[in-house]
Amino acid sequence: MRVVLLGAPGAGKGTQCKRIVEKYGVQHLSSGDILRRERAERTELGAKAQSYMDSGGLVPDELIVKMMAGAIAKAPKEGYVLDGFPRTVNQAQELDESLASDGKGIDAVVSLEVDEQIIMERMTGRRSCPKCGAVYHVKNLKPKVEGKCDNDGAELIQRPDDKPEVVKKRLETYYEQTEPVVAYYKRNGCVLELDAGNGVDEVGAKLFEMLDALAGK
Ligand code: ADP
Ligand code: AMP
Repeated sequence: MRVVLLGAPGAGKGTQCKRIVEKYGVQHLSSGDILRRERAERTELGAKAQSYMDSGGLVPDELIVKMMAGAIAKAPKEGYVLDGFPRTVNQAQELDESLASDGKGIDAVVSLEVDEQIIMERMTGRRSCPKCGAVYHVKNLKPKVEGKCDNDGAELIQRPDDKPEVVKKRLETYYEQTEPVVAYYKRNGCVLELDAGNGVDEVGAKLFEMLDALAGK
């Protein structure tokens, strides 16, 4: 199964991807997670991405497309779910072209639809584990012990780009550059729109219904 999960930052893509991975055995390919790993490992790509990420802008297409093509090429036979990529129409076109040449196109594009007010609340309340990348929320998805990761006990942090001043810029970037990707996929095929404003389990159940239908289950 090869799926693209679209949605604004904070819509819940990463949270639902974890569930998709558990249920369908596909790989979660999050461009944001890969970039944060590159930064933590102080690679050349990580250094190049830093200023764009911290200011709430997008990392240049050519860097991202190469990075994600490499990740897709290594994905298992069960497939993958893309999270945070493609984020521009140009990235979507490049992805389509490279998949078409391999004869392994995307099976479904799911768009998580969430109101801006909820997005702001989800993004600013997000807390992340710097060690394993697990994601929590100060109100909606609390860890068992306040401020500590359930998996490894590490101190949870607020991502620097989840601070209110950067969140505003990231949303502007989203509306300008990423929302047109939904229209692109609508023109080129079928986009499954999912009302993702409800709780994690409710959204997950609806998402599984969609993906089960796709997998013929
Ligand atoms: P994205 O990957 O789209 O940026 P995340 O999956 O990291 O978004 O979710 C953003 C924040 O919102 C996280 O703190 C997460 O715990 C919380 N969250 C995700 N989905 C829901 C939901 N359906 N209801 C309430 N909170 C949610
Ligand atoms: P995310 O974790 O998906 O919210 O991404 C965090 C940041 O990484 C974004 O604000 C961008 O600066 C950068 N980024 C992630 N994915 C992409 C992409 N596909 N294209 C460009 N920049 C990206």
